[in-house]
Formats: sequence, C-alpha cells, structure tokens
Amino acid sequence: MQISIRTSKSIGMNESPIFRCCVCHGIIRNPTWSMDHNTQKYGTDMREGQVCQTIRITSSQEMFRHDSQNCWLVHEPTIAQELKLKTTYPPATPMTLCCRCGAPVNRTQPHVSYAIMAMSLQDAPEGWIADVLSDKEFAVLCPECEEPDEPEAEATAEFQDQDERIRA
Ligand SMILES: [Zn+2]
Ligand SMILES: [Zn+2]
Repeated sequence: MQISIRTSKSIGMNESPIFRCCVCHGIIRNPTWSMDHNTQKYGTDMREGQVCQTIRITSSQEMFRHDSQNCWLVHEPTIAQELKLKTTYPPATPMTLCCRCGAPVNRTQPHVSYAIMAMSLQDAPEGWIADVLSDKEFAVLCPECEEPDEPEAEATAEFQDQDERIRA
C-alpha cells in the first residue's frame, strides 16, 4: 500500500522568519523540526490504475519547533508525558489504537494526529516554501481523548493545511 504525503507546501509569508528552538533557544536554520497537531482522515485515491491510500489533513497547527533532531529527541519524552501517551509512533493502518487510552481509532474518520516533521524552508516568489524531508506520525488520539477540529470548508483541499504553519 502506498501512502502519499505532501512533499512541499507554500507558507504564505513575505519576510524572512527567524525562529528559535524551543529546547536550546538556538536560531533555527534549515532544516527545521516541527511538531504539528493535525486533524486528518484517511481515504483512497486512484493513481495509475492502482488504489492508494491518501491522508487528508483538514487542519494543522504547529506546536513546537526545533533546530535539530537531537533537540526533538530531548523534548519528545516531555511531550509524550504532557499528552499522557502510553504508546507513540502508531502504525499507519486504517484502524489503529489511541496512543492515550488504547481505544480503536478508525482513521477513515477525522481524528487527531501529532506529527513530527523535518523541513527545509526556501524563499520563493510566492512566499516561503517548505520541503518536507521527513514526516513521522508521533501519536494518534481517539475522538474521546481529543476531539478533531471541525473540518473547514470543502475548499480546504488535500494537504492545503499550511497557511497557518509559520506564524511566529
Ligand atoms: Zn535546539
Ligand atoms: Zn483515546
């Protein structure tokens, strides 16, 4: 099964952003590691005659930003504790278990997902573009533990969750 994940995104920002790592407070240069709170839902799509799995993110909010994978790894246990997670890094299967309470989560319905993402920011004529270098799901929560955000209008097309991404 193939999973398609966004590979680039427009951030919609005109000025050079300066961000500091939430762990070591160093100025962040590329790549940057961010943890996002997403509401998402699995679906399927036909691509080249084959059914493949898609992930539609309907809302996304950045929670933390780090200047290195090392700082993320230092921060990770604290976040897991704050989110009261029993497990982390759930499998990308349509049915999975809530990382907090262990209840089944049907991923074809909107659900909350925390993802850690490494991206490289590029200045582009239409604003900032982030190339996603790696994208890992850190935790999935069932709707009882954390209610998914209301889906935005249908205009929120697949993977166009990024406008809010960079706002210091
Ligand atoms: Zn750092
Ligand atoms: Zn739960």
